[in-house]
Amino acid sequence: MEKIADLSFVKGIIRKHNFPIKKRLGQNFLINPRILDRITEAAEIGPGELVVEIGPGLGALTQSLAEKKASVLAVEIDQGILPILKQHMQDYPNVKIVNADILKVDLDKLVAEHFEVDRPYKVVANLPYYITTPIIMYLLEQKFRLASIVIMVQKEVAERMTANPGKKDYGALSVAVQYYTEASLVTKVPPSSFYPAPEVDSAVVKLKLREKPPVDARDEKLFFQVVKAAFAQRRKTLLNALHGFFKGYSKETLQELLGVCGIDPGRRGETLSLDEFATIANTFWKIKSI
Ligand code: SAM
Repeated sequence: MEKIADLSFVKGIIRKHNFPIKKRLGQNFLINPRILDRITEAAEIGPGELVVEIGPGLGALTQSLAEKKASVLAVEIDQGILPILKQHMQDYPNVKIVNADILKVDLDKLVAEHFEVDRPYKVVANLPYYITTPIIMYLLEQKFRLASIVIMVQKEVAERMTANPGKKDYGALSVAVQYYTEASLVTKVPPSSFYPAPEVDSAVVKLKLREKPPVDARDEKLFFQVVKAAFAQRRKTLLNALHGFFKGYSKETLQELLGVCGIDPGRRGETLSLDEFATIANTFWKIKSI
């Protein structure tokens, strides 16, 4: 099989099949083989590895994973692209293709059904940018049996995922990603690595799932509510942001609570570390359970 990640190959396929590229599905196909190598190296793909690929498209990344002898489950929403993808994958018996919306599948179940094993697996993808954050949050919150996630995303999203407290990109996504994973930037990717070229810069990010979170949140839901409250109105002080969200509590009570935590109520949410968010949430939790 020819290399799929190649501009003239991709253009030829699109012409031959009269395939309408669907912008609304985030279809930007990889045409730079060096980026494929960076992705598979970062994901440490080798023989026998179990991999779920989100959005295989024409199969550029799928081919790379298959040639590394991984067992690949490729989940693609676009029924129209499937005949082409299936044709491209016919020489790779280690690739299984499923037509589904990634946000609607129980990945653990799907992997177990197709590979009859229940060991941890990896997610690798050049994500559709219109639903990047929902996909990341879905993968993390469902607590699937994942070992790692290596994904191409918009550069700004990569910066948000890896940002530290006090930085302008630090937000609820940074906290969630860093709570569940160890996040690192693999490489930046220019628009010219795709066809059609997107209007934004991209980056590959590696998220290594943690065995346990770096902070001890007694009630995870409450922890993320505090995070959401703190970032809902970024320009407000922490006290005002919490007051706007936790309506049942007076400002005095919230001020006292922050005092117990040793956190200045005049700070902005975006300066708080995961540890400080956990301290606030755990103090809340204590008050609630009295
Ligand atoms: N992996 C290919 C590559 O790198 O050339 C294509 C990547 S393209 C950026 C994103 C792919 O995700 C498209 O094939 C698109 O149809 C697919 N997609 C979009 N939304 C999806 C969803 N909700 N579930 C599964 N696949 C989706």
